[in-house]
Parts: sequence; C-alpha cells; structure tokens
Amino acid sequence: MAKERPTAEKGVEDRVLAYGDRAVGQGQATTANPTAQPQPVKPPTPVDLILVDPRGAVPSSVPAALAAEIGAVRRNGWTAPLSGMVNAVFQARKRGMTSQQERFQAGKMDYTFYLVEGHSSAASSWKEVNDWLLDHGLIDAGRGRAYFEIAKSAWEDSSKIGFGMPPQQGFAKAAVVKVDALRKSAKSLPIDRAMLNVLKHEFAHMCGADHGSAGIMLPQAPLAGTPAYDDKAMQRIFLDLARLIASQEPQLKAAYERGNL
Ligand SMILES: [Zn+2]
Repeated sequence: MAKERPTAEKGVEDRVLAYGDRAVGQGQATTANPTAQPQPVKPPTPVDLILVDPRGAVPSSVPAALAAEIGAVRRNGWTAPLSGMVNAVFQARKRGMTSQQERFQAGKMDYTFYLVEGHSSAASSWKEVNDWLLDHGLIDAGRGRAYFEIAKSAWEDSSKIGFGMPPQQGFAKAAVVKVDALRKSAKSLPIDRAMLNVLKHEFAHMCGADHGSAGIMLPQAPLAGTPAYDDKAMQRIFLDLARLIASQEPQLKAAYERGNL
C-alpha cells in the first residue's frame, strides 16, 4: 500500500532529505564548541629566489618584483594566491658568485638563478656551468642525462637565453640565464621586464613545468608585457612547492638518486 511508492518519487524524497542533513551538519560545524582555542597558525615557509649576479647585470628593481609576482600567481578556482595556497613567503635577493660549498649546501626551498655572460669575451665556459649544476646536486645520468643535454645545447646556442633544471622527484635545481643573449633578444625593450619574464619562465622549469602553447611558458619566453603562466604551469608550480614544503631533504635526495641510476 503506502510502501508501493514509485521509485522516482522516493528518489526525490531522498535527495531532499540528504540536502537537509547536510545543512544541519554545516550548522553544527560552525557552532560546535564555541570556546575551543583556534588552531595555531603554521608560520609560512620562506622560499628563496637567489639571483647570482657576478657582473652586476640585474637591475635593482628585479628581485622584489620577482618575489612579488610569483607569490601573487593565482589560478582559476584557487581561494588565495600561490603564497597563500602553499603558505610560503617568497623572498628574492641578488648576490655575487656562489662558492662550491654554498652550492653543495643549497636547500630544498632555494631557487638559484645564475645570471652570467654566455657568448661575450667575459663568457663563462660550459665546463664551469656544468660544474655549478653538479655542485647543486643535479645528476647527469639516467633520466637526468636528457636535462643536461638540453642545458648544454641551450648554453651553446646564442639564440637561446637560458635554461632551468627541474628537481624531478628530488630538490636539487638551478637555472642559468645568459644576460648577453637576453640583451640581444630584448633589443630596445625594457631590460628589467624582459629579465623578470625570463626568470619567471625558468622558475617554472625549476618546479618541473614544461613549455606551453601560450603565455610565459612559450618555448621562447615573451620578453615584453606581463604574460601569465598557463594553467598547467600554475598547477605544476603549486604541486611542486607543496611537495618540497612537506618533504625532508634526505628522503627527497634518496628518491632522486633512485630515479636517476
Ligand atoms: Zn623554457
């Protein structure tokens, strides 16, 4: 009798009940235990953007602008900019050449960019550049071999401005920007803006992001204006920062070594 209700009608009733249950649940969540202490807020993790500038090529406005623009990256659907999403504070500074000891000790939240000459009479050699990468802990073997090949060809090609080495499943990473090649490509464009765009492009590579079909991750980073990261690059940057923040260096190093035998 009353039990023989059509299935469709019962379905409607179930949905309504389910909605009511959820509404009650939310009410309880917001009013339960009003005297509870708020959870302690975890301090943000510092992310260091280190601009190694042995020849004074970096305009003074660039470090602060780089940190601000990366921290402010915001993907559709995120409830906060990148800095809030991963609870990090981005800070950037320029400095002179690193020592080998400093390169050995680069930590998981250090993003080191070398801004050097590639083709002028003051050029660094590939041997030097290769040594910096190895000192940072990057492995030139296994799957890592391909990244060294890409780096060497970018270094030797005067039409290429630089490269960024990804950490894969570890944390070692570094980027190299040839400031003479950058100046040549930028021609009369503002050099600070062009440099920022290249640094943002290489930062994404240091987070494991690939090239895209639009925006700042085009294979040749646009040097003018403020092109955005494509959606895939933003997701990659977010995931890789979250991975590093949540992980311990010895475990990351071991995973990287296992992956590049
Ligand atoms: Zn690239």
